[in-house]
Amino acid sequence: MTVRVRFAPSPTGMFHVGGARSALQNWIYAKQQGGVFVLRIEDTDAARNKPEWTEGILSALDWIGIERGSYEGPHFQSEYAGEHRAAAARLHESGRAYYCDCTREAVQARTGSQYQGYDGFCRDRGLPAGEGRALRFRTPDEGETVVVDLIRGEPTFENKLIEDFVIARGDGSPVFLLANVVDDMTMGITHVIRAEEHLPNTPKQQLLWDALGVEPPIWAHVPVVVNEKRQKLSKRRDKVALEAYRDEGYLAAAMRNYLMLLGWAPSGDREIVPWSVIEEEFRLAEVNPSPAFFDEKKLRAFNGEYIRALGVEEFVDACRPWLTGTGTIAPPPWQPEEFDADAFAAVAPLAQTRIAVLSEIVPNVDFLFLAAPLTDEAAWAKAMKEGAAELLDAATAAFEALESWDAETLKSTLEAVGAERGLKLGKAQAPVRVAVTGRTVGLPLFESLEVLGRERTLSRLRAARVRLV
Ligand code: GLU
Repeated sequence: MTVRVRFAPSPTGMFHVGGARSALQNWIYAKQQGGVFVLRIEDTDAARNKPEWTEGILSALDWIGIERGSYEGPHFQSEYAGEHRAAAARLHESGRAYYCDCTREAVQARTGSQYQGYDGFCRDRGLPAGEGRALRFRTPDEGETVVVDLIRGEPTFENKLIEDFVIARGDGSPVFLLANVVDDMTMGITHVIRAEEHLPNTPKQQLLWDALGVEPPIWAHVPVVVNEKRQKLSKRRDKVALEAYRDEGYLAAAMRNYLMLLGWAPSGDREIVPWSVIEEEFRLAEVNPSPAFFDEKKLRAFNGEYIRALGVEEFVDACRPWLTGTGTIAPPPWQPEEFDADAFAAVAPLAQTRIAVLSEIVPNVDFLFLAAPLTDEAAWAKAMKEGAAELLDAATAAFEALESWDAETLKSTLEAVGAERGLKLGKAQAPVRVAVTGRTVGLPLFESLEVLGRERTLSRLRAARVRLV
């Protein structure tokens, strides 16, 4: 039997990190089993049927390493509406489903104050199909439904506690539970690996498989992803969009490594490992069923390590979208013609060890490309205290006299200027740094001045001095 798995997102306008995790787990499982990964877009909700949302899913998958053309699909759920309706009709004809015209209020009036599920009122009324009549599945009165789940063992559900659930609405349109099963059946899916949130649907869906006479798939419900308060990650409260991380400058390699650690770990106490190791060592059955904490701080630290592990040229390439504002990335504060690739290449190794996400490259190097630095007023106030004007005068004079403009000379020169005033180098640097870069922190100062060049450095020192008058 060829293993066939699927990733079946509903388009929502963004790609949830939990979805990315499930997609990767499906992807690896298929690869390990010599199977097929199918992408199905569950687009039956007309309001969710925007082509750009589908494109967003495809490009997010591409980014994370599940590339177009290397899987089956995308199939679109909306294209299988005929199969969904045919399955609903079959279930009705075989007596496994019946029409029901009860309103929720009517059921509630019969069963008491709290809605406890449908009471089976229409079960034996033999109503024909009709406007406003929902089709309900007749769940067995006895027995149990045992779900075979690779992660959770055999969750068992008593059939009598499962209400006669709706499979097609009053307008005849099949609901998610049925459409999802029929699609999996039509696409020959053998393993359903999906989020834990769907576990309560599973006994109902398995009953549908049974009633339609097809062997159900093996299930694997992967743990819910939670924030630091142990709340399920929500798009209203948490940063959940994969695209947001991509646009901030997380590397795809760091992201997918991190996502695979949600509920699982490679051998030997390692966390940062090459993708090939994950592909080899990952075992779906070893995934911990407890909620998995999505720790943004840890992801950030991971990303910093991945950035530092890049070759300098790779780092320069990786930074390019932030330096030029291509794609979905916000443009930098300088004009394209102000950008100087050589100057950037000269400071890139210094920046590479200091940033954790690629977007942080911009505030670290903007002083090189802007005509005047973007001055942070709090930094200015902090650095330009008493004595700053005199120090800037002395530094300017000493720098003007230099024959050689290199980091080492600049450093020893400022050191001497500071020493004459009883200042350590750190203190002497602060006004110079703010005058030239606009900030109190950043790349090593003297290398920065070397790359910025004599003219621009001196003119910024003079401009700062004018402001201090
Ligand atoms: N479209 C469903 C969702 O995005 C997927 C259901 C499933 O994987 O079975 O939650």
